[in-house]
Amino acid sequence: MYLRVLRGSGARCSHTLSFPMPSQSPTLGDCPNCHTDISRHSLLIEYDTTDGPAAYAECPDCRDVVHPT
Ligand SMILES: [Zn+2]
Repeated sequence: MYLRVLRGSGARCSHTLSFPMPSQSPTLGDCPNCHTDISRHSLLIEYDTTDGPAAYAECPDCRDVVHPT
């Protein structure tokens, strides 16, 4: 186990170090097919493009591999 020192972490939660989480919403977005919320749990792959970060995930509803919006 390793602990990462977060830049500018300040004094909050000084006694509890949680996992460094990206400051994003807990969902990846909506399924473009059925508009179900797709959680990060369903993430298959995440990558950067010239237009910004992109991800593919399996929709929990229609079971399709989609690009969350
Ligand atoms: Zn879907």
